[in-house]
Formats: sequence, C-alpha cells, structure tokens
Amino acid sequence: MSFQDKEIQCSECSNSFTFTAKEQEFFASKGYTNEPKRCPTCRQARRMDGGDRRGPRKMTATVCAECGQATEVPFEPRDDRPVYCATCYAKNRPNKTR
Ligand SMILES: [Zn+2]
Ligand SMILES: [Zn+2]
Repeated sequence: MSFQDKEIQCSECSNSFTFTAKEQEFFASKGYTNEPKRCPTCRQARRMDGGDRRGPRKMTATVCAECGQATEVPFEPRDDRPVYCATCYAKNRPNKTR
C-alpha cells in the first residue's frame, strides 16, 4: 500500500495544506480512517485552547457571613455553610490545635 501527498482544504481557515504520504502512513498505522480536517496551524491552535485549562482558579463572589464584606472564594459556596472572608476565616478557623 502506498500513500501520496494530498491537498486538503482546512475546514477552519480554508487554507489548503498537504496531508503528506508520511502522515497518511502514520494515520493508517494508528487505525485512523478519517483524514484531518484542519491544517496543522488550526489543529495546534485548537489544542492550545482546548487542552490545557490551567487558567486562574474560578472564584465565586460571595459575602462574608461574619463581617458582611464582599469576598471571593475559590469554590462554590453552599447554602447551608457560612462563607467567610480571608480575615474572618483565619480568625474563625475551628480548633486551633494545641
Ligand atoms: Zn486552518
Ligand atoms: Zn469577614
């Protein structure tokens, strides 16, 4: 079985790119039957914004149960649990061991 370079039009940016014989061979060896739909540039761009989501932690705005100040917490506050700002949290931290 031999492969030949093939021109494919990117479904994202509509630039044509070459699906090389080598890549086709690689695809075939992996058992992939689909041709790539996107040019390498778009594929990489997608990987960049899809894969590694290690951005800033999602903060939830809430109000401190103790001092009433607006604060943000790095978790989803639950109705049945009071949420404290950093200051009050430190103050109220239950049982300082010792
Ligand atoms: Zn593209
Ligand atoms: Zn507070």
